[in-house]
Formats: sequence, C-alpha cells, structure tokens
Amino acid sequence: MTSKSAYGAAFAVALFATAQSASAAVVQPQPTPLPPPIAAPQDVPYPGVLTLSVDATDLPHAIMAVHETIPVAGPGPITLLYPRWLPGNHSPSGPIDKLAGLIVSAGGQRLEWTRDPVDVYAFHVEVPAGVSALDLDFQFLSPVSTREGRVVMTPEMLNVEWNAVALYPAGYFSRDIKIDASVKLPTGWTPATALEVASKAGDVVSYKTTTFNTLVDSPLIAGKYYKAFDLDPGGPARVTLDVIADKPEFLEAKPEQIAAHKALVQQAYKVFGSHHYDHYDFLFSLSDRMGGEGLEHHQSSEDGTQPKYFTDWDKSPAGRDLLAHEYTHSWNGKFRRPADLWTPNFNVPMRDSLLWVYEGQTQYWGYVLAARSGLLSKQEALDAIALTAATYDYRVGRSWRALEDTTNDPIIASRRPLSWLSWQRSEDYYSEGQLIWLDADTLIREKTGGAKSLDDFAKAFFGVENGSFVTKTYTFDDVVAALNGVYPYDWATFLHTRLLGHGPGAPLDGVARGGYRLVFTDKETEYQKSVEARRKSTDLMFGLGLSVSKDGKLTDVQWDGPAFKAGLTEGVEIVAVNGETYSGDALKDAVKAAKGAAAPIELIVKTKDEFRTVRIDYHDGLRYPRFERTAATPARLDDILTPRK
Ligand SMILES: [Zn+2]
Repeated sequence: MTSKSAYGAAFAVALFATAQSASAAVVQPQPTPLPPPIAAPQDVPYPGVLTLSVDATDLPHAIMAVHETIPVAGPGPITLLYPRWLPGNHSPSGPIDKLAGLIVSAGGQRLEWTRDPVDVYAFHVEVPAGVSALDLDFQFLSPVSTREGRVVMTPEMLNVEWNAVALYPAGYFSRDIKIDASVKLPTGWTPATALEVASKAGDVVSYKTTTFNTLVDSPLIAGKYYKAFDLDPGGPARVTLDVIADKPEFLEAKPEQIAAHKALVQQAYKVFGSHHYDHYDFLFSLSDRMGGEGLEHHQSSEDGTQPKYFTDWDKSPAGRDLLAHEYTHSWNGKFRRPADLWTPNFNVPMRDSLLWVYEGQTQYWGYVLAARSGLLSKQEALDAIALTAATYDYRVGRSWRALEDTTNDPIIASRRPLSWLSWQRSEDYYSEGQLIWLDADTLIREKTGGAKSLDDFAKAFFGVENGSFVTKTYTFDDVVAALNGVYPYDWATFLHTRLLGHGPGAPLDGVARGGYRLVFTDKETEYQKSVEARRKSTDLMFGLGLSVSKDGKLTDVQWDGPAFKAGLTEGVEIVAVNGETYSGDALKDAVKAAKGAAAPIELIVKTKDEFRTVRIDYHDGLRYPRFERTAATPARLDDILTPRK
C-alpha cells in the first residue's frame, strides 16, 4: 500500500468517527405498532343466513353488480372479508383490485367502512344499535381485456366465480356460514353449476341454501349457446358435460367423442372405486373470447379451452387431458387434501408443500385416464409423456432448486411470465411430479410382477368413504403409509430423493421400467405438432435452445443452450435467418442446413429499435423427443395406458 492511500485511509477513519458521534444525538425511527389482528376463524355457526344477488346482465361493460345482506347479532365492530386465498389457485390471488363501488348501509342509513391498513382484503364496519342486517352494494369489474386478467364475460358466455362477488364475516369457518345465492342472467341464456336450483323467476335463478364454503366451490357458467350431455346415464350419481361455446356449431360433438367422455367417468370409477359428489358438472367453455381455464371443484370443474375442441378433434390432441385432470381433482385435491393446504376460510394462508401429490399425481392420472378413455390415443399419450420427459430433462434449474421448492411457485410467481423458465423452474411439481408417479407405478408393477400398481394406491388413498364429500386431509407420512400398503418399500427415501435431489436430469426411471427410452430425432410427433399449433410457436428448445412465436418473437431461451450463448433472450425478435425474412420454416431449414456444416446460423435480430447480427454455432440439426421401445423390458407403459376392463 502506498503512503498516499495510507493518508486516505486515516482521513476516512476520522470521518467515520465524526459520523458515529453525530448519530448518537439523532432519534432513529421505531416501528409503528400493527393494528389488532383480524379475528381468527372459529368452528361455530354464524347466526343467520346471508343473501347474495348477482346481476350478470351488463355484458357491454363486463360488470357484475352485487347486492348482499349480512345478518348481524348486535351492535359493535364487524370485519368483512373478500376471499383472498383461492382453492385450486393455491395462492393469494383473490381479485381485490376489481372490487369497486362498495357501499354498506343498514335500514337505509349509510355506514362508513374502513379498510384494514395491513390486510387490504378486510373491511371494518361499526354496527349501530338496533341493526339486524347489513346491506352491501358493490361491483365486480371483470377484466375487459386480457391485460387485466382472465376475461369472464363475453357477448356469448360468462363465468361467475362466487369468491369474486361476495364478502363474508371474519371469525367463522366458511363451512359454518350459510348463504342464499341468486343470479340474474341475460335473457335466454342457460346456466350450469353444481349448486342446486331452488326457484326460477324470469331471468333470475335462485339456489338452495348452502354454505359459503360450498358456494365458493360451486362456480357458474352461462351461455347463449348451450348443450348438455349426460355422461353416466343410470350411474350412481349424475355426471353432466355442460358445454357453452362462442358459436352454436362448436357444440356439435360426434357420438364417438361423447363416448370417450362417458368412458372417462367409467375409467375413473375403476381407478378410484368411489365418487365424492352428489352429482358432477363439467362446466365446459369452448371459446377464444372468454379466458381458458382449468379449475377443480368438489362437484364440478371449470374447463375452458379452444372453440374447435369437438370440430377440429383430429388436429388438437394437445390439452385433451384437461377434463381427465380436473375430474381427478374431485378425488385428489378436493376430497383428499394436504393438511397444510386445507384452511378454515379463504383468508388464512395456504401452504403448498404437498402439491406434488395434489397436482403431480393428478397430472399423472390426467394423461392415464385420457388414454384409457380414448380422449387420447395410446400413441398420443406416449408422445405427450415423451415431450414432458424431455422438457424436464432439460430443466437445468434443478441444479440449484429442488423440485419440492417449486411448490412455492403459485405464491412466488402467480404464473407471471418468466425470463428463464429452464433455470428459474415454475410449478414443476405438476409434470415432474407426473414423472415421479410414473416411476412409482412402474416400480410397483415390476416388484409385484404386475399384480399391483398405482391404481391400488389410488383406490386405497382416494377411494375411501364412497359418497362422502367431507374433505379428508393427509400428510407426507400418510402418503408413504398408503404406498407401503400396496407394496412395502422405502417410499420415504424414494420420494425424498426425487423431491430434494439435484439431478442431473429428470427422474426417467419410470420411462425405462415402462419399456421405453427417450430419444431425439429430426421428426416431430403429431402430438408435438399440435402443441406448437396451439401455442402458435416454433419449438426448437432441445436443439438450438429457443422457441419462437409466429411473428418471430422469442418466447423462451434454454439456459446455457446455443441461443443463450449467442446472447439471445426472451422477447428478442428474429427478423431474418441466413439473409431471408423470418418464418418458422426458414429457421428450421437453416438448422437443417447447418447440420454437420462449418458455418454458423446467422440471424438478424431486433431488440426495441436496435438491430444486430447474431451467429449461433449449432450443428446438431433438428431434435424432437419421442419414446423408443426397449425390447428387453415389458411394455409396462402400454399396460398403464390400456383401458381397464
Ligand atoms: Zn390441477
């Protein structure tokens, strides 16, 4: 160190000492005490019955107008809650930003409300003497464009999620609060919901008294164009496919398509050996105007997909596991629920640690049941699982982030777009969870010589108490015990290794034991083509390491892959490929031409107003995943995908 810097150091020490002595006289800030906590929910009946009237006729503004009455026991403070933690979303995603116009009154006299300064989902009201009920008027300003969220009101259809249009009193379990709900619909529209109708008067439908818990669990769809299909005539409980669509022609399902949906019910009964509903409604919307959806409930599911689901059947296998997935949730997720995920009302935080069972095994059964029922062909299901296997084998974020940690993603990311999916990971407990359950299923089948399988676990774990839909919670140890009941094994270590490990690569033992290996060829499977068509993208993630939208914008770049190394990121636009205007085919041609050649692939790319030339030194050609049969191992995966007799 030179003398000059020694002088500098001494000077700094002197300054520091001055600052220290000056600070002694300054009053440092101290925290302001928090407001009193919101009353914790108690398991006691709420006195009286709430009433809720939703006017869903203002389609031009996409506004739902709400009138609600909340009985009160006497004078004093009351806290009203807007549902925050939504089952199925596993996150604090209640759309509080869209609640507006709230006026609270009693006997015609306006009462001022104040929002809790910490919990913005809580409203405090002082109830005066002599008041027996509060009147609430407010609006739910549903999104008018996708920028604001999922669109739920269009000129042809709507979707009422009751959590968005209701407040409820704090201090009670939601199952202990009774409510009478009604909805006013556009004239001539047909509603569908798991709620039971009490009466109809003109355009207003009133539903039988239910609990606030069941109300939130029983959303409603309504459509100008509607068709219902009975999926289990003469079965133990009514199961209905309620279809609404943008246009009447999209409702035209062929008999063989309905037969596959009917088979889904029968194949599910064979797996679970039970049902946990009085009746079940698939609330199925075929639209590219209303937002897509897959949201499970005990006695129904909200299932929203592309309008040509029936009419373009052969071209659109991608996503055809949707109904099988959401239906499975009636058993796995609604009837059986992780103990730390179950909450007494919608404002107590959820903990998502066991979503690899709740969603992971549901993802598994979604594809298996879709194949067994004929919603997917066996080949389509194999190709879908191959694509999943490859995707998660390339999920390099495993090296820093264990699968179990991704169960926090509904809370961390709430499905916002990510810059680096393969490195950040995102809700991987769904599809990597699916691979773990394939691993478990094939292990049981191998060790028992095919006598037992994951079907036996499903029956033992989800199939108990037939007919009951009182939620039954479980822990990690309960899962391990049920697996041991099927086949004694060190399941705790099996699961921990896969949930907490760092790879490398995805858990693919189930593929190998299933009689297949993952390979890459230059030919896409028909299934992957349909995925690309659905996403309107060109997917070269397993080779060049990027996927591109129809208009040339990069939608994803594989972490540390060839495109990454060339400096590309999501959002960059490819303008030209080897001197030609960008198209998906031009890019694929360039990849083919570079195979085994020396010259790099040259792209002109645009970021905002800046153009630059990027050279990607990649010569391995097109690479698409598929399964290849390994002759030495029994085709257990084929057995898994075969309909049960
Ligand atoms: Zn799910």
